[in-house]
Amino acid sequence: MGKITNNSKNIIFSSFCVLASFAVVLSVVFGGARIAYKVKLNGKPVCVISDKQVYYAAVDLVADIVEGENVKDVLPQADIETVFTLESNFDDCDKMVDTIIDNTDEIVLASRLVVDGAAVGCADTESLEEALAARRSAYTGVVGAAASESAFCAEVLVEEGYYLSSEVSDISDLAPAISALNVKTTAKISENRAVAYKTVTNRTSDQKVGYRNVEQCGQEGIECVTKNVVYINGELTGEITESIETVKEPVNEIITVGTASTGSTYSLKTGFIFPLPSGTWEISCPYGKDGHKGVDLRAPSGTAIMAVAAGTVVSAGRSGSYGNCVVIDHGNGLSTLYAHASKIYVSVGDKVSAGEVIALVGSTGYSTGYHLHFEVHVGDDRINPQPYIGL
Ligand SMILES: [Zn+2]
Repeated sequence: MGKITNNSKNIIFSSFCVLASFAVVLSVVFGGARIAYKVKLNGKPVCVISDKQVYYAAVDLVADIVEGENVKDVLPQADIETVFTLESNFDDCDKMVDTIIDNTDEIVLASRLVVDGAAVGCADTESLEEALAARRSAYTGVVGAAASESAFCAEVLVEEGYYLSSEVSDISDLAPAISALNVKTTAKISENRAVAYKTVTNRTSDQKVGYRNVEQCGQEGIECVTKNVVYINGELTGEITESIETVKEPVNEIITVGTASTGSTYSLKTGFIFPLPSGTWEISCPYGKDGHKGVDLRAPSGTAIMAVAAGTVVSAGRSGSYGNCVVIDHGNGLSTLYAHASKIYVSVGDKVSAGEVIALVGSTGYSTGYHLHFEVHVGDDRINPQPYIGL
């Protein structure tokens, strides 16, 4: 009997379990209710998910998304509770990821500074962008041009993302690295500059040697030069001329010089003419006085200086104590030198005729007053020039 009783109890209990299970299944299948999982983070309910795997997948994703080691160690304590629910909309993995990140104090949105591929450090995104912008524009004022552009010489990247707060520094910690970034500033600059005028010399046999008349005064022109200038950290490192536009054409100086013989030659043998017009000069220092290697002929400023014979200009320009100086080669080892000029009208290589105006009397170089210092060279010797010009 007892045995029967025990069996009966077992049967009754088993039947109850089967019925109870049916009730659950029936209520889930036909009543619309189903099993789901309520996720609590640090005790606070945050999400309802259809499958526990949604939570575990979200944790793996968070560990991938957040930069840093052992991310999972800082995530909040999670409790997953089984619930029955009539809801059919559940939080998906993306929502779970966002929720985990939002509820983890140790995960922050920040940016990493990367220079030429090397990570420098992380900081608050806005502070980092501001510090970089300030560094980039640090030298625009130096250039002083309206249209200037600045860029870093290195490749500088700001990588925004989720970082462990332990890896994010105060912006002041990155300041030395940011200050060390070289900045290239480029600007387009336009400026006007003067253009020298040319001197055109007309020779006329209608006038005698020594005649010199300015037919048209020269006027400087103006051109506008546009160039791209490059500065590194405010120091000018290069400039490239982009264009040159003529604003005003220069006006040529036109002079007429006489070539007709004065009929007066001074040398006994050489046929040289005198280098200054008659009546304009006097000897202020003869050859040989205190080692003087030429003859000084005092004359008013601007008096025409003439080639004493035909020849080729071999030197024309500044020459130390001679000041503005012309040397003419007459062949056969003979040359003549004209020093201290205020202005020179010939260039190296010019062929000049006897009596042609080559320069004007001045007081350039080592000189104590307006005069022509005249020398005659035979080979390397500076010989007495006076007999050559009838003195
Ligand atoms: Zn002299």
